[in-house]
Amino acid sequence: MDKRAEQKSPSTATLWVVATPIGHLDDFSPRAQAVLTKVAVIAAEDTRVSQKLLPARDSAPQWFSLHDHNEAASIHTLIQRLLDGDDIALVSDAGTPLISDPGYRLVSAAHDHGIRVSPIPGPSAAIAALSAAGLATDRFYFEGFLSAKSSARRRRLRALAENTETQIFYAPARDLVDVLEDMLAEFGPERQATLARELTKQFETVRRGTLAELKMFVESDTNQQRGEAVVLTAGASSTNPLQAIEPMALAHELAKELPPARAARILARLSGMDRRDAFAQIERLRAS
Ligand code: SAM
Repeated sequence: MDKRAEQKSPSTATLWVVATPIGHLDDFSPRAQAVLTKVAVIAAEDTRVSQKLLPARDSAPQWFSLHDHNEAASIHTLIQRLLDGDDIALVSDAGTPLISDPGYRLVSAAHDHGIRVSPIPGPSAAIAALSAAGLATDRFYFEGFLSAKSSARRRRLRALAENTETQIFYAPARDLVDVLEDMLAEFGPERQATLARELTKQFETVRRGTLAELKMFVESDTNQQRGEAVVLTAGASSTNPLQAIEPMALAHELAKELPPARAARILARLSGMDRRDAFAQIERLRAS
């Protein structure tokens, strides 16, 4: 916390974190609309997109553009406005701010300065997709976007292959064939999954099947390669006895039984770790 925050009496202003529709405008809650009609400042990812959503109000708010590239620099100004007593609403282009969208640093800084932060809950593609996916919901893991590069994507998927929770991935639909291909290679063609595309919009798709079935479905219909998508994968089956192996115990055995370079290569392949990190880990275990 900086000195100014410590010296000032706590601000009476609120940073509202406001969810907006992911497609269907009727999902814009009355409470979200009410907040957007009264705040002095609206911090938006793309002000042109959010301006279209703005309900009628007596005076125009001050718009502030907040995206990943300027978030750090904008925080000072926005926090100062809050400390001066102005309410701010944070919105993203669609859905809930901070969920694979900017805002984390601003919300964190508001907490640092003792400023009240309050969510106006509403749509988020991840939760909407999960609610309709027909996959286990008792535990789930949110990954968000995978890398656009296949090699990095494959590495990350390999590291997630044995997770037993339902997993949620964001993807532009134009990448679906490639993403499903990589999932199929790393999770196996029989893994259950759900494609949730263009949710709440006119050409919505919610389809469950194996990864192999979903890939074929998307490949054979180019309409499925348009718009925005969430892919959810069922967790790895917990009946697999290999899952009982504790990763550190495995690394220990590899370090004991094999030359370091070979042990590191296997560890990197199985864990998705970087080769150099795996080597350092093996060296540490050999020295211990
Ligand atoms: N903050 C947003 C939220 O709460 O859902 C997510 C923003 S992220 C930049 C955009 C991604 O969310 C898209 O690439 C897609 O994966 C997913 N998404 C957004 N709207 C969607 C929709 N209507 N149907 C399916 N996926 C959607």
